[in-house]
Amino acid sequence: MKFQSTRGNAPAVSGLQALINGLAPDGGLYVPQAFPKIDFNWDQLAKADYFQIGQLVLSTFFDEFSQGELADFLHQAYAQFDRPEIVKVHALDGKRQLLELFHGPTLAFKDMALSLLPYLLTAAVKKTGQKDVLVILTATSGDTGGAALQGFSDIGQTQIVVYYPSVGVSALQRQQMTTTPGQNAHVVAVEGNFDDAQRVVKKLLADPELAKQMQTAGLRFSSANSINIGRLVAQVIYYIYAYAQLLKSGRLKSGEKLDVTVPTGNFGDILAAYWAKKLGLPLGKLTVASNANHVLTDFFASGIYNAKRDFHVTTSPAMDILLSSNLERLLFDVAGAEKTRHWMADLADKQTFTVDDKTLDLLQQSFNAAFADVDQTSQTIKETFRDHDYLLDPHTAVAVYANQQFTTQRQQLIVSTASPFKFAEIVLSALGQKPADDPAANLKQVAQIAKLPVPAAIADLFTKKVRFHEQLTIDQLGEDLKASLGL
Ligand SMILES: *Cc1c(COP(=O)(O)O)cnc(C)c1O
Repeated sequence: MKFQSTRGNAPAVSGLQALINGLAPDGGLYVPQAFPKIDFNWDQLAKADYFQIGQLVLSTFFDEFSQGELADFLHQAYAQFDRPEIVKVHALDGKRQLLELFHGPTLAFKDMALSLLPYLLTAAVKKTGQKDVLVILTATSGDTGGAALQGFSDIGQTQIVVYYPSVGVSALQRQQMTTTPGQNAHVVAVEGNFDDAQRVVKKLLADPELAKQMQTAGLRFSSANSINIGRLVAQVIYYIYAYAQLLKSGRLKSGEKLDVTVPTGNFGDILAAYWAKKLGLPLGKLTVASNANHVLTDFFASGIYNAKRDFHVTTSPAMDILLSSNLERLLFDVAGAEKTRHWMADLADKQTFTVDDKTLDLLQQSFNAAFADVDQTSQTIKETFRDHDYLLDPHTAVAVYANQQFTTQRQQLIVSTASPFKFAEIVLSALGQKPADDPAANLKQVAQIAKLPVPAAIADLFTKKVRFHEQLTIDQLGEDLKASLGL
């Protein structure tokens, strides 16, 4: 299996090389040259566990790894999860189920892919005979940073650099990143928002001068951002697993369609659902759920992507994004490389692009889109707890709200991307309680309300020593990066 760039101006590469490169040299994202299909056997699928489905998906995309290697990666990756089944499908009522993807070490769905990626990447480096140290350069809106630091902590032949926005991340997210024990880590707060940080990271990743300097020093960039093909493929697994669980419980009949709603930021998670559907999983409509930064809601309604607008810091910070990188892969899929290249050039030049009617029609056939503002999000947390005795995190609440905007007869899968413990202050406020100044006290309060123990992964987080205090401007990042790499 080979991978090509969405912009059509870079050579096709093996899966191993696509994993290592992160971004294609023409600035595009890697996608399969011929999209694979899986011939699902529903009876077998209903009996399969997460690891078996993981092997099936990974071997479909990355044929360079043996089944034994893949089984090994999967078991090591998910050893730290707090449930043996890795993810949980929770029935909210007769028609809606939540897919809980937050049982990993940082309590958000980023762990699903970022626990696995280091194994795929380091094995890819070994298999291609490369000796360079991989520099994982990451811009985060809050959750990727923590999960990447966790996943790559002291993994040999890697350095990990994380830039997070100084405003918008929660106390817990900041604490997770700045107390990371990894000796191969460098963590910096950036004055600005996520889009600013991501733009600089993309520029650094594509800087030929810097690449040369790094090469001389035996270093090489890779990316743990959701543009990395390894992250996307890892996320396809849980849609198939969720479908299998619903077959097993009798909620779905073999081949019956399932609608999916995903709280969306960079468009990685929902694109993985789209890829699961392309593989042959019977999914119905995919609903893109956004917060007050609803660029995508507007785009799916009008065909106009307009990032030139005010940026809102909301209660669902992982979705405070105006440039959804993985949308490029969807555009490529429906309209091809040439149009995608033009739209991405327009976006870079003018912060906006407009797709043609045919493309918009194709997009609307597959996707719904809706958004929830901060009040609607908080109201949804309150009502869901009152009516179903279940505590939603704010990102998942955005998705539950968006899901309610559309009526269908089909079963609904709503992706739950974070634990309510991770956003304790927001959840408590939504329930009409006053959060304490002490974040640890708020965790206890959430535990009492949800009737759940504080997750072991964060139980002693606020007693850990902060190792990284630095805060820099966007313009300082290039120099900071060089200094941290000894260039
Ligand atoms: C990253 C994140 C999202 C958005 O996922 P994308 O793949 O970027 O669309 C939603 N919720 C949480 C909690 C996240 O961490």
